[in-house]
Amino acid sequence: MPEPKYKRILLKLSGEALNGGDKAQVIDFNILEMYAQEIKKIAEVGVQIAIVIGGGNIFRGASVEKSGIDRVQGDHMGMLATVINGMAIQSSLEKHNMTTRLMSAIKMEQVCEPLIRRRAVRHLEKGRVVIFGAGTGNPYFTTDTTAGLRAIESEAEVVLKGTRVDGVYTADPEKDPTAVKYNQLSFDEALSKNLKIMDLTAFTLCKENNVPIIVFDMNKSGNLYNLVMGEEVGTLISN
Ligand code: UDP
Repeated sequence: MPEPKYKRILLKLSGEALNGGDKAQVIDFNILEMYAQEIKKIAEVGVQIAIVIGGGNIFRGASVEKSGIDRVQGDHMGMLATVINGMAIQSSLEKHNMTTRLMSAIKMEQVCEPLIRRRAVRHLEKGRVVIFGAGTGNPYFTTDTTAGLRAIESEAEVVLKGTRVDGVYTADPEKDPTAVKYNQLSFDEALSKNLKIMDLTAFTLCKENNVPIIVFDMNKSGNLYNLVMGEEVGTLISN
């Protein structure tokens, strides 16, 4: 069996990507199926996989402040949205015979396990895919911050941020045709160039705890596998 470069990873998937760019639908099940196939490929070579999924396809706390729903209430709604996405991804992984555990930072025991760090690590050691739902459990945070935090807590070697662009660019490649991709960057460089990779809380957590981040295109088949096998894919941000 080929040896992966990383033994334990934290995969961050955006909620927004789940609707496939179609705001009329919440979840595009073809995308979920694609994710499951990509994740299965790395599970088969023995990579221990933790997943944090966002909720932006369903609800974002900050977007409703004007509507009279206060921020904390909105953020709780956003965190519950991540559990819905977590349940969807759990089902798609189970369809491919992977053993999974969905752990929520907000207790809902009829639906999923409560988050207990030691138990999460044990699941990972046993080869179960752990999906961390409900963000950090606290308002005013993001699922990027959750990804950094859960990576540190579960001793993942790297945060893999799956997006729809293939890395970090000098400018937005969807708007500026002269934009150039970085293969590698230091956290300090990314900060001084004001590159928007993750929010500052998430970024600082990863920098201070020496957890590298790789931004890559999750929609390109084979990328996730190649990445964990040590190929240069996307942009690596490290100290
Ligand atoms: N959220 C929160 N605390 C957390 C994580 C998430 O309050 O620790 C809420 C917040 O309202 C956020 C929403 O959940 O807008 C969905 O998460 P996010 O926007 O990070 O999802 P993504 O952009 O990855 O789809």
